[in-house]
Amino acid sequence: MVHFVGAGPGAPDLITLRGARLLREADQVIYTGSLVNTELLSGCRADCRILNSAEMTLEEVIGAIEQAEAEERMTVRLHTGDPSLYGAIREQMNSLDALGIAYDITPGVSSFCGAAAAVQTEYTVPGISQTLILTRMAGRTPVPEGESIHALASHGSSMAVFLSAGMLAGLQEELLRGAYTADTPAALVYKASWPDEKLLRCTVGTLAESAEKERITRTALVLVGDFLGGRGARSRLYAPDFSTGFRKGTGEGEQRPATGESGSALREGETRS
Ligand code: SAH
Repeated sequence: MVHFVGAGPGAPDLITLRGARLLREADQVIYTGSLVNTELLSGCRADCRILNSAEMTLEEVIGAIEQAEAEERMTVRLHTGDPSLYGAIREQMNSLDALGIAYDITPGVSSFCGAAAAVQTEYTVPGISQTLILTRMAGRTPVPEGESIHALASHGSSMAVFLSAGMLAGLQEELLRGAYTADTPAALVYKASWPDEKLLRCTVGTLAESAEKERITRTALVLVGDFLGGRGARSRLYAPDFSTGFRKGTGEGEQRPATGESGSALREGETRS
């Protein structure tokens, strides 16, 4: 059995309880060495085989899993943040499917959540933006046509840009071709939740020069949008006059009561927070 596990953004206590248990039980751990905090491996069994996938090809990773399976040993494949984002797990699952090897996935706290916590912000501020775009610049590996930063930037929504800290001059230019202006708030979060975390608040117009001053070229997320500006409307959900399936409002400007999970039956155009 193979368990894909999200390690979280860095701080060892930001892995899930399930992920931590699987790490303690593992016969073999293959971890993403470039970004996973190796403190997480200190709880592994003394006889656990530990491999760093930064030095391996896909074929070598699958080979190590196949070998463990033949010995009926369990593998944890430990990915930074959440495995579903830029984790290259699709290709691993395809190979495991072809070999008939069973697997499951334990989610993790993605770095975009760790970065929001570092900045102490909310991506979906009522009246500002209700959409978060997670993306990356095209670099040595391409992104599909239609997903260029300038196309995505036309929405002016909240945005978190992965894998692009080394291309900030280009990123800045692309963002400015969209709906953002040079004054739109931006932030650069380096190693969110690690002891050497750095947080730079800047604007779209000063992204590249701010990073250069602090010599940040990798392991950082770029956050962009007016959600960083500290303004925003009040949510409807917690307004005194607003009724939901769980709370009766005072009635003024009364809305049809929502039923079920809070907000799930909110009408189109209503704001949830
Ligand atoms: N699966 C991971 C993303 C892996 S891609 C996740 O869910 O977070 C690697 C990129 O993620 C880095 O280039 C950087 O942009 C971002 N990243 C990962 N950990 C980070 C952290 N602790 N702080 C800031 N950015 C981080």
